Amino acid sequence: MKTINHFSTALLNWFDQYGRHDLPWQLDRNAYRVWVSEIMLQQTQVATVIPYFERFMDRFTCITQLAEASIDEVLHLWTGLGYYARARNLHKSAQIIANEHGGLFPENFEALLALPGIGRSTAGAILAQTLGQRHAILDGNVKRVLTRLHAIDGWPGKKDIEAQLWQLAEHYTPQTCLADYTQAIMDLGATVCTRGKPGCSNCPVRGQCLAFKQDKVPLFPASKPKKTLPVRETRMLLLQDGQGQILLQQRPPSGIWGGLWSFPECSVDDNINEWCKKALGFSVRGIRPETTLRHTFSHFHLDIHPVHARLKAPTDQVMEGAPLVWYNTRQPDTLGLPGPVKQMLDKLA
Ligand code: SF4
Repeated sequence: MKTINHFSTALLNWFDQYGRHDLPWQLDRNAYRVWVSEIMLQQTQVATVIPYFERFMDRFTCITQLAEASIDEVLHLWTGLGYYARARNLHKSAQIIANEHGGLFPENFEALLALPGIGRSTAGAILAQTLGQRHAILDGNVKRVLTRLHAIDGWPGKKDIEAQLWQLAEHYTPQTCLADYTQAIMDLGATVCTRGKPGCSNCPVRGQCLAFKQDKVPLFPASKPKKTLPVRETRMLLLQDGQGQILLQQRPPSGIWGGLWSFPECSVDDNINEWCKKALGFSVRGIRPETTLRHTFSHFHLDIHPVHARLKAPTDQVMEGAPLVWYNTRQPDTLGLPGPVKQMLDKLA
């Protein structure tokens, strides 16, 4: 018991002086704002999240507004943040909360876990920070701190290591001051016990840290076992009409970049003109390959071969009913765009 108290007391004292107290979601704190911030912060650093969070909150001030918005608009505000399933789940969850919980954010752990995109750590973080409920959290930062604190061998993403870390996370979570403790342990991982060059000399828990005592900090946490990622290829068609507008096509709702707007794609072996005639209903001219770019997903590399071409025929010959738009780069629509597509559109503009 002494160790638990010692750990949380040292952490809370440190947090009072050095923790982050003025992040946008800490001001006007409510479950909706904390929820959105927690989802944005999954896989993404605070500095990147802040402008996205502020734009999102300006547009969707409450759950009801988010639930009533179109998925296109939600994805548009997510453009560039990556991991778009997070935005789709946020939108879906807002609709469930509006329809099944009367628009009120659930205050019960199981009800939160039942929402798409909310796992054990996120549910715990929301309830601890907004209602002071006692729940442990285990995000990437906390995993790193606990792995070093106990000099745990093995990659923290492995099931058995993760289970051990959850036990430790539960063990150290205090009975009181849950909102501060939750923020404190995340802050320690993000600002002191960082991945590279941790600031051990300024760490409030170094007296308890096994990795520090054994002078083995750089060995923890163990890296993910290396796997060679397969490479997939696609050819993206940057088709421009007489006014300079670019043709975009909406992707299917699920899968990679689900629901986002991208360039029409064909196989690298297709004859471009034939493909355009067949799939889109018009001919093209001035076919010009652009520099290949690589985008890496968690489980494969995608080599994108962009090809620029101009329409021979007027724009109203695009196939009827297809999810296609002519995108004006000077007056962009509010569409959700994958990062590499946004990059190519900016270049064309
Ligand atoms: S002493 Fe160093 S390694 Fe240990 S918890 Fe603190 S910052 Fe992390």
